[in-house]
Amino acid sequence: MQDEPIDKEIILNELMELHKLDYNYADGRILGSMCTEAHPFAKEVYCKFLDTNLGDPGLFKGTKHIENDVIKFIGNLLSLEKPYGNIVTGGTEANLMAIRAARNHARKYKGIVDGEIIIPDSAHFSFKKAADMLNLKIVEAELGDDFRINVESVKNAISENTVAIVAIAGTTELGLIDPIEEISKIAHENNIYFHVDAAFGGFSIPFLKEAGYELPVFDFSLEGVCSITVDPHKMGLAPIPAGGIIFRKKEYLQVMAIDSPYLTVKTQSTIVGTRLGASSAATYAIMKYFGKKGYSKIAQNLMENTYFLKEGLENIGYDVVCEPELNILAFNHPNIEAHDFAKKLDELGWKVSVAKCPIAIRIVLMNHIKKSHLKELLEDLEKIY
Ligand SMILES: *Cc1c(COP(=O)(O)O)cnc(C)c1O
Repeated sequence: MQDEPIDKEIILNELMELHKLDYNYADGRILGSMCTEAHPFAKEVYCKFLDTNLGDPGLFKGTKHIENDVIKFIGNLLSLEKPYGNIVTGGTEANLMAIRAARNHARKYKGIVDGEIIIPDSAHFSFKKAADMLNLKIVEAELGDDFRINVESVKNAISENTVAIVAIAGTTELGLIDPIEEISKIAHENNIYFHVDAAFGGFSIPFLKEAGYELPVFDFSLEGVCSITVDPHKMGLAPIPAGGIIFRKKEYLQVMAIDSPYLTVKTQSTIVGTRLGASSAATYAIMKYFGKKGYSKIAQNLMENTYFLKEGLENIGYDVVCEPELNILAFNHPNIEAHDFAKKLDELGWKVSVAKCPIAIRIVLMNHIKKSHLKELLEDLEKIY
């Protein structure tokens, strides 16, 4: 850092020059991200709450009230009348909290020391971080031919050290929903903690169902489900960072409680200490602003875009990996390997990502991708077919 102060304008110019190197959602070229441009109203509210600290809720009673309300809104959406939980930085932290709750609960009530978690092959890598930090062993359950978790494989993976089973509602790579009802039954019968990762699907499945889409049950209406991750900063159109962790019972937060001596509250169950209230306020604002009808309209529009792209790809001759269940589409070129193909698309300015299971080009049809962008993309794809 230099010694003398510098003019604001000079600093801003410097920063904006660098910001120009970033891709812009509005250009419609970011095709492989689960994040999107936040709604302007959510951003406006976010800025008003920048100084609030939910790590010390006694000083920010109003903002704590807002967080509780948001947890209630999301919990109710997931068929839970009295939810517990927090707005955190994202799906990674939410999953970490869920696995920590499961581990501590199993340690306290079952005396399990060397715990194991069962996760599908398709699980997000955040569970590997969680297992590493919490000193747990990962047992991977296989996927079936339909790329969803194989129920028999889960049954076979259960041991006396299992502290949690994880299933996914909207997989990161393909947007598929695991057979959560069946897994919930197995977890309940075996008295094992069951976590559902709906980081991506949580803000679309309930709305699509209400609009008449036939999608499986994935929420707290299943008695085995103990916690659900839902990210407002993905399909919820809230600003980054906003993840959500919802627990069925208060005791899951209590088994994680650590004494917090110098604060206005006696204990803390979250992973981070000082944490922003702006995410809660912005999520509150955008959920009220859209209402179920608003989110439903967005979710349906994104599904229509997904089908539009699928048809366009099939008309050219590309192989679509599977029937999309949510707004994610994976496909392959008949002759060019996916990583090489992604490079080709990158040269044309399209930022796609490559799925690993199965290896394929993966496009997440978020709100910033408009039909006009898809038409341009299809034109390019036709040229390089
Ligand atoms: C995106 C995602 C995560 C991780 O969320 P971050 O907000 O990136 O930390 C976890 N699980 C699933 C299913 C996801 O799609």
